[in-house]
Amino acid sequence: MSLKSLNFETQAVRTQTDKTQFLEHSTPMYLTSGFVFEDAEEMRASFAEEKERNLYSRFSNPNTTEFVDKICKLEGAEDGYAFATGMAAVFSTFAALLDAGDHIISARSVFGSTHTLFTKYLPKWNIETSYFRVDEVDKIESLILPNTKIIYAESPTNPGVDVLDLELLGAIAKEHNLLLVIDNCFATPYLQNPIKFGADLVIHSATKLIDGQGRVLGGVTVGKKELIREIYLFSRNTGPSLSPFNAWILSKSLETLAVRVDRHCENALKLAEFLESHPKINWVKYPFLKSHPQYEVAKKQMKMGGNVVAFEVKGGVQGGKTFFNSVQMCSLSANLGDTRTIITHPASTTHSKLADEDKLVVGITDGMVRCSVGLEHIDDVISDIEQALEKI
Ligand SMILES: *Cc1c(COP(=O)(O)O)cnc(C)c1O
Repeated sequence: MSLKSLNFETQAVRTQTDKTQFLEHSTPMYLTSGFVFEDAEEMRASFAEEKERNLYSRFSNPNTTEFVDKICKLEGAEDGYAFATGMAAVFSTFAALLDAGDHIISARSVFGSTHTLFTKYLPKWNIETSYFRVDEVDKIESLILPNTKIIYAESPTNPGVDVLDLELLGAIAKEHNLLLVIDNCFATPYLQNPIKFGADLVIHSATKLIDGQGRVLGGVTVGKKELIREIYLFSRNTGPSLSPFNAWILSKSLETLAVRVDRHCENALKLAEFLESHPKINWVKYPFLKSHPQYEVAKKQMKMGGNVVAFEVKGGVQGGKTFFNSVQMCSLSANLGDTRTIITHPASTTHSKLADEDKLVVGITDGMVRCSVGLEHIDDVISDIEQALEKI
């Protein structure tokens, strides 16, 4: 039975590192910083990369390798490298692949820290970024410069849950010989595989739905072997690697990803449908609601709509404040993809560093709420949100 032909759920459960002499059923934790060699020749050959094996856990470790192998199978990728956080994955990917003076084209709507990377840090190496709005994908080609190297996007976006046509991005990147890098955090490998649509690299913050229980941080980049090689060499020397402990947790988490995400999506759709007809709501956005501007694209490239619902409560700043202060069960937190339903106010927290006009362009208004729908009974989540809306 070839593992390659197996289905998603089976790959997520059955991809494991080799057993030790104890024949344990579940992969143990390999909490070791280094590995020993038989003799001087083996040590030399290992460091010269003539022999593939673990040397030091900054380079690789059986737990991180298992986690990366799973993500590669689930995303249909050739190779990958695991990082301590999603942001370490984003930064290391850019740092490894870009030279001073290169140019990036990015969707305007990206995770807050990624935005800070583009505006504050990459310019230190004279790497500039041009932006396109999610509803202006047709303008991307006009932004291409002779030094453009990467097209970067998230889909669905954080926090506006806009959806970008990955097939179209893939075609543009291919035609102009650019790398397409997709942050697939909101979709997880279960709902969407950007490589199928032409992405060269896929990045995840494993902190979110991959862990799924709000416990550990982690990140991963997977994709073309020759690109991962560059990312690996950069990372093995600069040290953003994932800890074996976190890798062990994240690999276990992947065993239940499909089952969890099925329920997350079912719950999120129910909440979105409830909010759509509520009188205290100005608008609600969820990829699998027919009213979503990119509903058809979402249906084409995603299995389900994900667990994040964005909406705007009536009454502006005051309405938002009342809503956040009235919620009883849902957590007020900046994280997402947890078993616990979380509501966030992007304007004052995760995206507060954006200029007011940038906030508006990416759809962040004062009354906007980002809800990461959890695994509680959905009736209880809806009741809590309903009673808070009544206070507005
Ligand atoms: C959270 C997040 C990140 C950053 O991940 P960390 O693990 O918090 O560093 C990157 N991209 C998206 C879309 C995210 O939601």
